Amino acid sequence: MERGTPMGPFDYVIVGAGSAGSVLAARLTEEPGVRVLLLEAGGADTNENIKAPAGLGLLFHSEVDWDYRTVEQEAAGRTFYWPRGKTLGGSSSTNVMLYARGTTGAPSTTSSARTPSPACGAGTVGQLP
Ligand SMILES: Cc1cc2nc3c(=O)[nH]c(=O)nc-3n(C[C@H](O)[C@H](O)[C@H](O)COP(=O)(O)OP(=O)(O)OC[C@H]3O[C@@H](n4cnc5c(N)ncnc54)[C@H](O)[C@@H]3O)c2cc1C
Repeated sequence: MERGTPMGPFDYVIVGAGSAGSVLAARLTEEPGVRVLLLEAGGADTNENIKAPAGLGLLFHSEVDWDYRTVEQEAAGRTFYWPRGKTLGGSSSTNVMLYARGTTGAPSTTSSARTPSPACGAGTVGQLP
């Protein structure tokens, strides 16, 4: 967005354009007239290793990684590197790209036990992002 471009007011402000924030922003803006401000601390997802399934390790400690460390873990007696995405798409831009889609039977079992929401619906198709 260019400097000086009029902004706001917004109906919703979402902090973080990762997996959850991006889906939420997309869903909310399906409603005509709803204005959403999606804030992301990282930059554009232009690092070429984001699109390469085997490129994950090359993103560690890079500009698209928060490069966190845990506190010292009692059982191990040391801290651990804790990667988290810092770019558009968040950790979904820096992950392994593994996914598992539920079987048709399993979601309907779980959906009957919860209240369907307008945003997610219920059942297999309703659970797609
Ligand atoms: C290394 C790694 C590998 C993984 N592999 C897989 C996999 O193969 N398959 C799978 O299903 N899942 C995988 N995951 C898990 C999955 O990627 C995450 O669970 C998911 O992306 C988390 O989504 P989220 O919206 O909670 O957070 P994120 O996607 O991390 O989004 C958070 C966003 O908020 C931004 N942010 C944080 N603080 C601020 C701030 N103050 N202001 C503005 N923006 C801010 C961050 O920069 C980031 O973009 C992996 C995760 C990691 C780290």
